[in-house]
Amino acid sequence: MQRILVTGGLGFIGSHTSLLLIEKGYEILIVDSLINSSIKALERINEIINIKYPRMKNKLSFFKGDLRDESFIRGIFLKQNKIGKPITAVIHFAGLKSINQSINEPLKYWDFNLVSTINLLKVMNLFECRTIVFSSSASVYGSSKIDLINEDQKLDPINPYGLTKLTIEHLLANLYESSPDKWKIINLRYFNPIGAHPSGLLGEVPNGIPNNIFPLIMQVALGEIEYFKIFGKNWPTRDGTGVRDYIHVMDLANGHFYGLEYLINNPPKILNLNLGTGIGTSVLDLIKTFEIVNKINVPFQFSKRRKGDAAIVVADNSLVKNILKWKPEKNLEDMCRDGWKWMKLNQKGY
Ligand code: NAD
Repeated sequence: MQRILVTGGLGFIGSHTSLLLIEKGYEILIVDSLINSSIKALERINEIINIKYPRMKNKLSFFKGDLRDESFIRGIFLKQNKIGKPITAVIHFAGLKSINQSINEPLKYWDFNLVSTINLLKVMNLFECRTIVFSSSASVYGSSKIDLINEDQKLDPINPYGLTKLTIEHLLANLYESSPDKWKIINLRYFNPIGAHPSGLLGEVPNGIPNNIFPLIMQVALGEIEYFKIFGKNWPTRDGTGVRDYIHVMDLANGHFYGLEYLINNPPKILNLNLGTGIGTSVLDLIKTFEIVNKINVPFQFSKRRKGDAAIVVADNSLVKNILKWKPEKNLEDMCRDGWKWMKLNQKGY
């Protein structure tokens, strides 16, 4: 049986991916400091496993700790080796992800994102576990004039968060070049993950007032915020509002499964892959779909464009489709329906 260490496995994307990998028959070891998640996510994952996949009951374990503590990670790898169950591969979600916070607190971002990753890679190398899927981001591209972004697009992040992601990609590339016969690496550059597990048991819990469009729309729908602010109505797009590539978190989770299977079954290599649907959705499209699917009103007002925003940011996802044979299966309606179900059932988070 393949044993996968999932860092940040109780966070938004990590919790959905851990559950999906259990469903696919992997044994999962989650590591999380809970700095941006709740232990209740673990209870929810176990609840779903107990009902839907009872034979996988003992295949999930959890280690609470901070990846910035190298001895903590070493302890986990050591223990697994001692009991004859070495870790096969790692999915590395753990990190901080707020663009605004990274601008205000750069030291914290470099510390959490870089130090954690360096420690993790050192220990992986020591224990000869050299297969990793890393959570990168479309923010490595910076502001782009091109509508469909492919992986060869210039890498030029415009904030510290994106820079930490790009730096980790560089670090992984250096590592691969140092031993190309050993390391198996995929950097998945996510576009805009939204939605939630269809059960309504797992989802995203924003820290304080959300920055991202989808949690904000849901706060407006709940009546917590009076109206949704649309930044700019004269962008060069079909309805004048910004266009983005939204991807259902379950499709994103599935991308990790495909990535992992690919790495395990192929010779060492390093790949950078966009993970998006390739479909552009405007802010107005998103609001309209949310309103129709959920039969609820989302009042909005237009305000000025924000500095640094782009008109259209959509993934060219041909590479991930060709190489991993992954494709998105859920549409915008699914994202809106599942996201709202989660929010209605968990208004205060877990
Ligand atoms: P999240 O904050 O919900 O999950 C991250 C998890 O990592 C949290 O559970 C947190 O407690 C944990 N963590 C953070 N630092 C840690 C440390 N030093 N040691 C141990 N645990 C630690 O975020 P998410 O939305 O699930 O994102 C997962 C990854 O994907 C992040 O690396 C993020 O940068 C990246 N990403 C997210 C998005 C997005 O829109 N959600 C987009 C692109 C990339």
